[in-house]
Amino acid sequence: MSRFWSDHVAGLSPYVAGEQPKIAKLVKLNTNENPYGPSPKALEAIREAVGDRLRLYPDNDSTALRAAIAEHHGVKPDQVFVGNGSDEILAHVFNALFRRQGRMLLMPDISYSFYKTYCRLYDVPAELVPLDDDFGIRPEDYAAARPAPIAGVIVANPNAPTGRALSLEQIDAIAAAHPDAPVVIDEAYVDFGAQSAIALLGRRDNLVAIHTFSKSRSLAGLRVGFAIGSEEIIGGLNRVKDSFNSYPLDSLAHAGAAAAIRDVEYFDRTRRLVMATRADLTQRLEILGFKVLPSQANFVFASHPDHDARELALALRAEGVLVRHFSQPRIDQFLRITVGTPEECELLCETLVKIQTKTH
Ligand SMILES: *Cc1c(COP(=O)(O)O)cnc(C)c1O
Repeated sequence: MSRFWSDHVAGLSPYVAGEQPKIAKLVKLNTNENPYGPSPKALEAIREAVGDRLRLYPDNDSTALRAAIAEHHGVKPDQVFVGNGSDEILAHVFNALFRRQGRMLLMPDISYSFYKTYCRLYDVPAELVPLDDDFGIRPEDYAAARPAPIAGVIVANPNAPTGRALSLEQIDAIAAAHPDAPVVIDEAYVDFGAQSAIALLGRRDNLVAIHTFSKSRSLAGLRVGFAIGSEEIIGGLNRVKDSFNSYPLDSLAHAGAAAAIRDVEYFDRTRRLVMATRADLTQRLEILGFKVLPSQANFVFASHPDHDARELALALRAEGVLVRHFSQPRIDQFLRITVGTPEECELLCETLVKIQTKTH
């Protein structure tokens, strides 16, 4: 608390990001970054954008980038909203869509923890809908009637940090149950094996899909995300964005992201590599005695019957391998492990064997 702060600041609960270590040489499997570099074409486009033109403001409408995203996904440019990472887009979504007098937002009890942070920041009351015993989202829980209209729904698909995905039919059922409320699907990991709700936009004008360049496009450092929805919903996001920061994306981000989304060949090759490594890693972990949830993301969520997850994470860190542990009820016996290169995953498994033989 400070006498200089606005009234609400003391009550915020800021998001805690995974560690970005200052020392090199660590095997970094803790923040779901892509182990393969960005598309060489994206890097080339960024290099070309470095020059005298940086003295000019960037295009505040991100016209070329939105056109490239629209073309890739077969929608109109006015259905595309871009932001400084999808976290910023989520902030605008909470601000522009979910702040409704007397209405609750529905979201899973276990999901991306930034949602709860934004609920606090924007004063959005939420009803937490429990995942089932296998950590799955039950669409019927969201479709059930409620005493008052809802402010909206937000789910991550695949969910974080479980990696489990809903089918398009299940997403459609949630959207159909609330035709007058925005149903927002955070698709940060969708390119690793799930189906995008973008395919449903033709019949569900209340759906919004949010994507990021940080995971499947390997550009976490560039900070670019996008949302696709009806022009009506995107119009609301634009009003909030232009009341906050007209230039959220810089010129280098515009150039790199547009080139990345056009490089379909590189995108498909690298995400297939990640998916293949995920299958191998899952199998290896199961042989080591882990229970691994079925994942459609670039990470796996795993628990071991004989080892405390927090202690395992610490022991791995001492051996130079970073994974993510959440001290949160229901999931505090799980580790979230990013799918790295085959070599990194091999090193992780060797280190786990070393730890297991030490503690037995
Ligand atoms: C990584 C992640 C984001 C944030 O992505 P940025 O575009 O890097 O801000 C959003 N939602 C989920 C579920 C994520 O895992």
